[in-house]
Amino acid sequence: MRVGVPRESGPDESRVGIVPEVAARLDGITVAVERGAGEEAGFDDGAYAEAGCELVSDVWTDADAVLKVAKPSAAEAARLHDGQLLIAFLQPLTDRDGIERLARQGVVAFAMESIPRTTRAQAMDALSSQATVSGYKAAVLAAERLPRFFPMLTTAAGTIAPARILVLGAGVAGLQAIATARRLGAVVSGFDVRPAVREQVQSLGATFLDLGLVGEETEGGYARELTPDEQQRQQEALEERIPDFDVVITTAAVPGRPAPRLIPKAAVERMRPGSVIVDLAAETGGNCELTRPGETVVVGRVEILGPLNLPSTVAFHASQLYARNVAALLVHLAPNGELALDWDDEITAGTCVTRKEAMA
Ligand code: NAD
Repeated sequence: MRVGVPRESGPDESRVGIVPEVAARLDGITVAVERGAGEEAGFDDGAYAEAGCELVSDVWTDADAVLKVAKPSAAEAARLHDGQLLIAFLQPLTDRDGIERLARQGVVAFAMESIPRTTRAQAMDALSSQATVSGYKAAVLAAERLPRFFPMLTTAAGTIAPARILVLGAGVAGLQAIATARRLGAVVSGFDVRPAVREQVQSLGATFLDLGLVGEETEGGYARELTPDEQQRQQEALEERIPDFDVVITTAAVPGRPAPRLIPKAAVERMRPGSVIVDLAAETGGNCELTRPGETVVVGRVEILGPLNLPSTVAFHASQLYARNVAALLVHLAPNGELALDWDDEITAGTCVTRKEAMA
């Protein structure tokens, strides 16, 4: 099998689909990497060559499988051909047109978002690996913007009280934000609508914020979307509690749906000057009413950050983790480089979003 790894074409995408260390371990697979593909993530062409990769200018034409991070642009998609495999974040729940185009071209496409969240597929779970990066970076961004220390400090000039941080939505990203803020010495509280999360928050040394609201978990382990009445109650409860915190990091999401609105404008207006909100849900509309995706908004003296694609800002490790996820999937689909697609297998069938009729 021959796999092609293109240089990512998106302007804000610094990650790369395969890193040298992972390429070297792909037995029975020839890895062709576009020259300069790993440069922005800190992996130069020499490292790929040393790992046994071919460095080429066209990775598309001869590849049996193309490995990418972001979904292909229109120009890239046009280079894919009938029967070729594609593995990337393809946004299957929101980019219907893109998926239909791949189907028309006869591409056998696997969406990294669709990896089942089961124990067996854990090594392939790129949503989790990249959410870990986002959660870490959100806490670091907050620490950088806050005009206060995170830790308590005892100095000759007296004692400094620690910062108080609230993390809303304690899935993979939220738990990592909690852990990172704790490592920096802040006093952290967390909240999530899934009841199982309380213990996870507490096990990280944070307090679970009781808003008097308990949601449900769907079969896939995700949150059910709150009803309008529950949403209203959540916003009111948060408006009451948010002024107690210096930083609010929000990560609440429901797959395939716009981000739930948690923080109304009125709550932001009640925060202390210098407070910071980092809204990780900016990509899907934001958890805060005032968030503008990709921008920092200042309201009163409160900063609201709406960063996009945070994993790309930690491109070295985000790529390393992503490449391990992709390689685990590739080895699952093609053990020792021999393609063996088993459509009765829940990982293969669950992750595939387009396939040729003949394969069905
Ligand atoms: P996600 O990104 O879809 O959502 C982030 C968090 O937002 C979730 O914890 C969700 O409960 C929460 N949320 C949704 N609406 C909310 C609201 N109105 N207020 C507050 N919080 C709200 O979730 P995720 O981080 O991708 O993970 C979701 C689940 O998947 C978790 O149960 C996680 O443990 C599970 N998971 C399992 C595996 C595995 O078994 N291999 C791997 C990764 C994640």
